Amino acid sequence: MFDYHLHTHLCGHAQGKVSDYAAQAVRLGYREICFTDHIPLPNDYDSFHRMAMGEIDLYLDEIERAREMYPEINILTGIEADYIEGFEEFTTDFLARYPFDLVLMSVHFVSGWPEGDWVFNYHFPEKSLKQIYREYFLSMIQGIKTGLYDVVAHIDLIKIPGNPVLETNRDDIDSVLTAVKKAGMAIEINTSGLHKSIAEPYPALDLARMIVQAQIPVTIGSDAHSPEQVGFRFDVVSEFLAAHPSAQLARYRRRKRELMDINLSGF
Ligand SMILES: [Zn+2]
Ligand SMILES: [Zn+2]
Repeated sequence: MFDYHLHTHLCGHAQGKVSDYAAQAVRLGYREICFTDHIPLPNDYDSFHRMAMGEIDLYLDEIERAREMYPEINILTGIEADYIEGFEEFTTDFLARYPFDLVLMSVHFVSGWPEGDWVFNYHFPEKSLKQIYREYFLSMIQGIKTGLYDVVAHIDLIKIPGNPVLETNRDDIDSVLTAVKKAGMAIEINTSGLHKSIAEPYPALDLARMIVQAQIPVTIGSDAHSPEQVGFRFDVVSEFLAAHPSAQLARYRRRKRELMDINLSGF
Protein backbone atom coordinates (compact mmCIF):
# COMPACT_ATOMS: atom_id res chain seq x y z
CA MET A 1 0.00 0.00 0.00
CA PHE A 2 1.18 3.50 -0.84
CA ASP A 3 0.03 6.94 0.22
CA TYR A 4 1.46 9.54 -2.11
CA HIS A 5 -0.07 12.76 -0.78
CA LEU A 6 0.76 13.82 2.79
CA HIS A 7 1.03 17.27 4.35
CA THR A 8 2.81 18.25 7.57
CA HIS A 9 2.72 21.07 10.14
CA LEU A 10 5.08 23.05 7.90
CA CYS A 11 2.28 24.03 5.53
CA GLY A 12 0.62 25.91 8.37
CA HIS A 13 -2.83 24.32 8.08
CA ALA A 14 -1.94 20.69 8.87
CA GLN A 15 -0.94 18.98 12.11
CA GLY A 16 1.85 16.54 12.83
CA LYS A 17 5.48 16.17 12.01
CA VAL A 18 6.88 14.00 9.26
CA SER A 19 7.77 11.35 11.85
CA ASP A 20 4.18 11.27 13.21
CA TYR A 21 2.85 10.46 9.73
CA ALA A 22 5.57 7.88 9.17
CA ALA A 23 4.74 6.21 12.52
CA GLN A 24 1.08 6.01 11.56
CA ALA A 25 1.90 4.59 8.11
CA VAL A 26 4.11 1.92 9.72
CA ARG A 27 1.29 1.05 12.15
CA LEU A 28 -1.05 0.61 9.19
CA GLY A 29 1.43 -1.60 7.37
CA TYR A 30 2.17 0.76 4.46
CA ARG A 31 5.18 0.02 2.27
CA GLU A 32 5.74 3.48 0.87
CA ILE A 33 4.64 7.03 1.56
CA CYS A 34 5.42 10.32 -0.09
CA PHE A 35 5.36 13.72 1.62
CA THR A 36 3.95 16.45 -0.59
CA ASP A 37 3.82 19.69 1.34
CA HIS A 38 2.84 22.83 -0.57
CA ILE A 39 5.62 24.52 -2.46
CA PRO A 40 6.64 27.96 -1.12
CA LEU A 41 5.78 30.70 -3.60
CA PRO A 42 7.41 34.04 -4.34
CA ASN A 43 6.13 37.33 -2.91
CA ASP A 44 4.42 35.51 -0.01
CA TYR A 45 1.73 34.32 -2.42
CA ASP A 46 -0.87 32.35 -0.39
CA SER A 47 1.66 32.15 2.44
CA PHE A 48 -0.95 30.93 4.96
CA HIS A 49 -1.10 27.52 3.27
CA ARG A 50 2.55 26.77 2.69
CA MET A 51 6.01 26.66 4.19
CA ALA A 52 8.16 29.75 3.93
CA MET A 53 11.03 29.66 1.47
CA GLY A 54 13.49 29.27 4.35
CA GLU A 55 11.69 26.18 5.70
CA ILE A 56 12.43 23.85 2.81
CA ASP A 57 15.65 22.62 4.44
CA LEU A 58 13.74 21.87 7.63
CA TYR A 59 11.24 19.86 5.55
CA LEU A 60 13.99 17.86 3.86
CA ASP A 61 15.74 17.30 7.22
CA GLU A 62 12.55 16.07 8.89
CA ILE A 63 12.08 13.57 6.05
CA GLU A 64 15.68 12.40 6.35
CA ARG A 65 15.31 11.90 10.10
CA ALA A 66 12.07 9.94 9.65
CA ARG A 67 13.88 7.65 7.17
CA GLU A 68 16.44 6.87 9.86
CA MET A 69 13.72 6.28 12.48
CA TYR A 70 11.57 4.05 10.27
CA PRO A 71 13.76 2.03 7.90
CA GLU A 72 10.91 -0.47 7.43
CA ILE A 73 9.01 1.93 5.17
CA ASN A 74 10.08 3.80 2.02
CA ILE A 75 9.70 7.52 2.62
CA LEU A 76 9.75 9.65 -0.50
CA THR A 77 10.37 13.37 -0.80
CA GLY A 78 7.68 15.03 -2.82
CA ILE A 79 6.18 18.44 -3.21
CA GLU A 80 2.72 19.67 -4.17
CA ALA A 81 3.57 22.36 -6.68
CA ASP A 82 0.94 24.79 -7.89
CA TYR A 83 0.66 25.58 -11.52
CA ILE A 84 0.07 29.32 -11.67
CA GLU A 85 0.47 31.13 -14.95
CA GLY A 86 3.44 33.49 -14.66
CA PHE A 87 5.25 31.41 -12.01
CA GLU A 88 6.78 28.92 -14.47
CA GLU A 89 10.31 30.24 -14.19
CA PHE A 90 10.24 30.25 -10.40
CA THR A 91 8.83 26.70 -10.35
CA THR A 92 11.43 25.43 -12.83
CA ASP A 93 14.29 26.81 -10.72
CA PHE A 94 12.83 25.62 -7.43
CA LEU A 95 12.18 22.05 -8.59
CA ALA A 96 15.67 21.76 -10.06
CA ARG A 97 17.27 22.77 -6.80
CA TYR A 98 16.06 19.91 -4.57
CA PRO A 99 16.16 16.11 -4.86
CA PHE A 100 12.44 15.43 -5.20
CA ASP A 101 11.13 11.95 -5.89
CA LEU A 102 7.75 13.20 -7.04
CA VAL A 103 6.13 16.48 -8.02
CA LEU A 104 2.35 16.75 -7.82
CA MET A 105 0.72 19.39 -9.98
CA SER A 106 -2.20 21.25 -8.43
CA VAL A 107 -4.38 23.93 -9.89
CA HIS A 108 -5.46 25.84 -6.78
CA PHE A 109 -5.52 29.23 -8.52
CA VAL A 110 -6.60 30.22 -12.00
CA SER A 111 -5.09 33.18 -13.76
CA GLY A 112 -7.59 36.03 -14.08
CA TRP A 113 -9.62 34.85 -11.10
CA PRO A 114 -9.41 36.80 -7.81
CA GLU A 115 -5.77 36.54 -6.83
CA GLY A 116 -4.91 34.18 -4.02
CA ASP A 117 -8.42 32.72 -3.82
CA TRP A 118 -8.52 28.90 -3.96
CA VAL A 119 -10.43 27.61 -6.96
CA PHE A 120 -13.32 26.15 -5.02
CA ASN A 121 -14.17 29.57 -3.54
CA TYR A 122 -15.24 30.94 -6.88
CA HIS A 123 -18.23 33.22 -7.18
CA PHE A 124 -18.90 34.21 -10.77
CA PRO A 125 -22.63 34.90 -11.13
CA GLU A 126 -22.03 36.06 -14.70
CA LYS A 127 -20.42 32.82 -15.85
CA SER A 128 -22.00 29.43 -16.50
CA LEU A 129 -20.69 26.49 -14.50
CA LYS A 130 -19.44 24.98 -17.76
CA GLN A 131 -17.39 28.11 -18.40
CA ILE A 132 -15.96 28.11 -14.86
CA TYR A 133 -15.03 24.43 -15.13
CA ARG A 134 -13.54 25.09 -18.58
CA GLU A 135 -11.27 27.89 -17.35
CA TYR A 136 -10.01 25.58 -14.62
CA PHE A 137 -9.29 22.74 -17.05
CA LEU A 138 -7.62 25.06 -19.59
CA SER A 139 -5.31 26.23 -16.83
CA MET A 140 -4.61 22.59 -15.98
CA ILE A 141 -3.71 21.80 -19.60
CA GLN A 142 -1.32 24.75 -19.64
CA GLY A 143 0.32 23.37 -16.50
CA ILE A 144 0.60 19.86 -17.95
CA LYS A 145 2.25 21.24 -21.07
CA THR A 146 5.04 22.90 -19.07
CA GLY A 147 6.50 19.42 -18.48
CA LEU A 148 7.37 20.45 -14.93
CA TYR A 149 5.25 17.91 -13.07
CA ASP A 150 4.79 14.15 -12.63
CA VAL A 151 1.23 13.63 -11.40
CA VAL A 152 -2.00 15.64 -11.65
CA ALA A 153 -3.43 16.01 -8.13
CA HIS A 154 -7.18 16.16 -7.34
CA ILE A 155 -8.09 16.59 -11.00
CA ASP A 156 -11.72 17.61 -10.49
CA LEU A 157 -11.17 19.79 -7.40
CA ILE A 158 -13.34 22.43 -9.07
CA LYS A 159 -16.52 20.32 -8.92
CA ILE A 160 -19.46 21.25 -6.74
CA PRO A 161 -21.95 18.77 -5.32
CA GLY A 162 -24.53 17.62 -7.85
CA ASN A 163 -22.55 18.95 -10.83
CA PRO A 164 -20.03 16.33 -11.96
CA VAL A 165 -17.48 17.71 -14.42
CA LEU A 166 -18.15 14.91 -16.91
CA GLU A 167 -21.75 16.00 -17.28
CA THR A 168 -20.91 19.49 -18.58
CA ASN A 169 -17.26 19.37 -19.67
CA ARG A 170 -16.62 15.99 -21.27
CA ASP A 171 -14.71 17.66 -24.14
CA ASP A 172 -12.42 19.50 -21.71
CA ILE A 173 -11.77 16.27 -19.80
CA ASP A 174 -10.85 14.54 -23.08
CA SER A 175 -8.34 17.33 -23.75
CA VAL A 176 -6.87 17.03 -20.26
CA LEU A 177 -6.45 13.25 -20.58
CA THR A 178 -4.84 13.62 -24.02
CA ALA A 179 -2.38 16.17 -22.61
CA VAL A 180 -1.59 13.94 -19.61
CA LYS A 181 -0.85 10.98 -21.89
CA LYS A 182 1.33 13.05 -24.14
CA ALA A 183 3.28 14.40 -21.16
CA GLY A 184 3.80 10.90 -19.73
CA MET A 185 2.18 11.91 -16.46
CA ALA A 186 -0.04 10.00 -14.03
CA ILE A 187 -3.25 11.10 -12.31
CA GLU A 188 -3.89 10.84 -8.60
CA ILE A 189 -6.90 9.22 -6.97
CA ASN A 190 -7.30 11.48 -3.95
CA THR A 191 -9.64 10.37 -1.18
CA SER A 192 -9.86 13.69 0.69
CA GLY A 193 -13.15 14.56 -1.02
CA LEU A 194 -14.75 11.80 1.03
CA HIS A 195 -14.54 13.95 4.15
CA LYS A 196 -15.78 17.11 2.42
CA SER A 197 -19.27 18.05 1.30
CA ILE A 198 -18.61 16.62 -2.17
CA ALA A 199 -18.49 13.16 -0.46
CA GLU A 200 -16.61 11.40 -3.26
CA PRO A 201 -12.97 11.07 -4.30
CA TYR A 202 -11.12 13.28 -6.75
CA PRO A 203 -11.69 12.15 -9.44
CA ALA A 204 -15.27 10.93 -9.24
CA LEU A 205 -15.24 7.19 -9.91
CA ASP A 206 -16.71 7.43 -13.41
CA LEU A 207 -13.89 9.80 -14.33
CA ALA A 208 -11.40 7.45 -12.65
CA ARG A 209 -12.77 4.70 -14.92
CA MET A 210 -12.12 6.86 -17.99
CA ILE A 211 -8.57 7.49 -16.80
CA VAL A 212 -7.87 3.79 -16.37
CA GLN A 213 -9.47 2.99 -19.73
CA ALA A 214 -7.22 5.60 -21.35
CA GLN A 215 -4.30 3.60 -19.88
CA ILE A 216 -3.13 6.50 -17.78
CA PRO A 217 -1.36 5.28 -14.62
CA VAL A 218 -2.64 6.36 -11.22
CA THR A 219 -1.17 7.17 -7.83
CA ILE A 220 -3.18 7.11 -4.61
CA GLY A 221 -3.17 9.84 -2.02
CA SER A 222 -5.13 10.73 1.10
CA ASP A 223 -4.09 14.40 1.11
CA ALA A 224 -3.75 13.84 4.87
CA HIS A 225 -3.57 17.00 6.98
CA SER A 226 -3.21 15.02 10.23
CA PRO A 227 -1.49 11.69 10.93
CA GLU A 228 -4.75 9.82 11.52
CA GLN A 229 -5.78 10.63 7.94
CA VAL A 230 -2.99 8.53 6.41
CA GLY A 231 -4.68 6.07 4.05
CA PHE A 232 -8.05 7.73 4.64
CA ARG A 233 -10.83 5.68 2.99
CA PHE A 234 -8.43 3.72 0.81
CA ASP A 235 -11.01 0.93 0.98
CA VAL A 236 -12.91 2.91 -1.69
CA VAL A 237 -9.83 2.91 -3.93
CA SER A 238 -9.10 -0.78 -3.29
CA GLU A 239 -12.61 -1.65 -4.31
CA PHE A 240 -12.37 0.48 -7.45
CA LEU A 241 -9.02 -1.03 -8.43
CA ALA A 242 -10.22 -4.56 -7.78
CA ALA A 243 -13.02 -3.89 -10.27
CA HIS A 244 -10.51 -2.45 -12.80
CA PRO A 245 -7.66 -4.95 -12.97
CA SER A 246 -6.15 -3.25 -16.02
CA ALA A 247 -5.31 -0.19 -13.91
CA GLN A 248 -1.64 0.61 -13.54
CA LEU A 249 -0.14 2.05 -10.39
CA ALA A 250 2.76 4.46 -10.77
CA ARG A 251 5.67 4.57 -8.29
CA TYR A 252 8.34 7.23 -8.36
CA ARG A 253 12.01 7.53 -7.41
CA ARG A 254 13.90 10.71 -8.17
CA ARG A 255 11.13 11.58 -10.59
CA LYS A 256 11.50 8.34 -12.57
CA ARG A 257 8.34 6.34 -12.97
CA GLU A 258 7.89 2.63 -12.55
CA LEU A 259 4.56 0.98 -13.37
CA MET A 260 3.04 -1.81 -11.33
CA ASP A 261 0.16 -4.11 -12.06
CA ILE A 262 -2.61 -3.67 -9.54
CA ASN A 263 -2.66 -7.42 -8.89
CA LEU A 264 0.93 -7.34 -7.65
CA SER A 265 0.67 -4.20 -5.58
CA GLY A 266 -1.03 -5.64 -2.52
CA PHE A 267 -4.40 -4.03 -3.17
ZN1 LIG B 1 -3.97 20.44 -3.15
ZN1 LIG C 1 -2.57 18.49 -0.83
